[in-house]
Amino acid sequence: MKAVTRFAPSPTGYIHIGNVRSAIYPYLLARQTGGKMILRIEDTDRERYVEGATELIEDTLKWLGLDWDEGPIVGGPNEPYFQSERKDLYLEWAMKLMESGRAYADPTLPEKIDEYRKECSAAKRPFLYRNYRPKEFVDWEPGMPIRFLSEPREYEWHDEVMGDMHTGPEVLDDIILIKKDGYPTYNFAHIVDDAEMGVTHVMRGVEYLSSTPNYLALYEALGLNRPKLVSLPHILAPTGNKKLGKRDGAKSVTEYRNDGVLAEAMLNYLVGLGWNDGTEQEIYTKEELVEKFSLDRIQTSGARYDETKLLWLNGQWIRRIFDTEGAQVLYDRTVNFWPEEADGYTEEYRLKVLSIIYDRLKTLSDLKEMTKYFFVDPEIDVDMIVGNKFLKKMSEAEIEDLMKVVIHKLSDVKDWNADELQKVLNELLVETEKKPAELFSLIRIAVSFAAFSPALHLTLEVLGKDVTLARLNAVARAI
Ligand code: GLU
Repeated sequence: MKAVTRFAPSPTGYIHIGNVRSAIYPYLLARQTGGKMILRIEDTDRERYVEGATELIEDTLKWLGLDWDEGPIVGGPNEPYFQSERKDLYLEWAMKLMESGRAYADPTLPEKIDEYRKECSAAKRPFLYRNYRPKEFVDWEPGMPIRFLSEPREYEWHDEVMGDMHTGPEVLDDIILIKKDGYPTYNFAHIVDDAEMGVTHVMRGVEYLSSTPNYLALYEALGLNRPKLVSLPHILAPTGNKKLGKRDGAKSVTEYRNDGVLAEAMLNYLVGLGWNDGTEQEIYTKEELVEKFSLDRIQTSGARYDETKLLWLNGQWIRRIFDTEGAQVLYDRTVNFWPEEADGYTEEYRLKVLSIIYDRLKTLSDLKEMTKYFFVDPEIDVDMIVGNKFLKKMSEAEIEDLMKVVIHKLSDVKDWNADELQKVLNELLVETEKKPAELFSLIRIAVSFAAFSPALHLTLEVLGKDVTLARLNAVARAI
């Protein structure tokens, strides 16, 4: 069956991890079945609307490689794809319901509704608007909300993830269809749009499950066949048993992107938040996901957000791109992530730096801190040498002597390349009778003053003979 799915975000500015997962699953299903993916912007809550948020959504989807067949930018037979531009349509559908006696205009003032609500809470009764429905119906005028006229009854239905569901009549109510500002509610607009757009699978967060009986009642009243309902499990905070919120350390997708998380890794990670293919495989390309995704392996229980796993996957993806697509392809993705100090250095040089450091990166922005000394002489910090755990046993005089031997030996190197340097460093070990940890730590610190550097012979090769010797000499003078 060709699935017609949709991602229907509200443009409120911040793109939460969970929002994006709600785009990935429908995308995969649509692509797998040769169906259609629709992007629909649900911008009817004018108070939460944020300027520029739609562009941010489009941009994020494009970045992740989740293209859509109908929606903003690409157009399609169901234009427009902004709910705010479809107001007349919702009103038309609401009018039809009024004509058939399944909706009514509600002139009740908000103060009155508040009173009803308070009355219920004082009596410890659930507030159901249908118990306060106006006795006589009036003609609708702009500015009046339109409500559904509910007929309470039990519902049974099947959710593709959560299984067979059953609810009693107490969950059905006279929900608002059109608000007093003339915009539809989510509850109504999505039903109309999914029907108009031929959506076959409604895939969204499980938080909509409790409203589903009201949606079922609406499908019936409108004479619609309901689409398949697919509730995606909650994404849980790293600790505790609550839903992931802004305060739980998860950044927005935009922030992760700016920090140098690759789109491939983001997609790979998010798809696993609530779905797995039952094997041990961890790394998936988008193409593999399209092939392997299945609704029946979406889990029912909440999926715990784990940033460490995301960053681990990102490191894996950085390596994979370098190893399978080549240094240049990875390099092209790093252009915004180099430290300022790298300005003015050639692409050729940066590529060399990248080639020896890429397998240590968790995010591309690690380049900022991890590569500075390739571009600028580090500040000499004698304590870092004399206090080093491998060098502590040596006196300053011994260290100074050792430095002299190293400088002398390296000055004689004719072919400054990694193989030659590897050989020379090994000879130095024999000549000085030092342990690798001692000798190599000394040289490594003296040329980088960094907490980490790639293998020494590679680091020295990239730095070049002149820079290496100048730095070693400067350190020798400072000790
Ligand atoms: N606009 C809703 C949201 O952003 C969409 C829910 C749905 O996919 O139907 O939560």
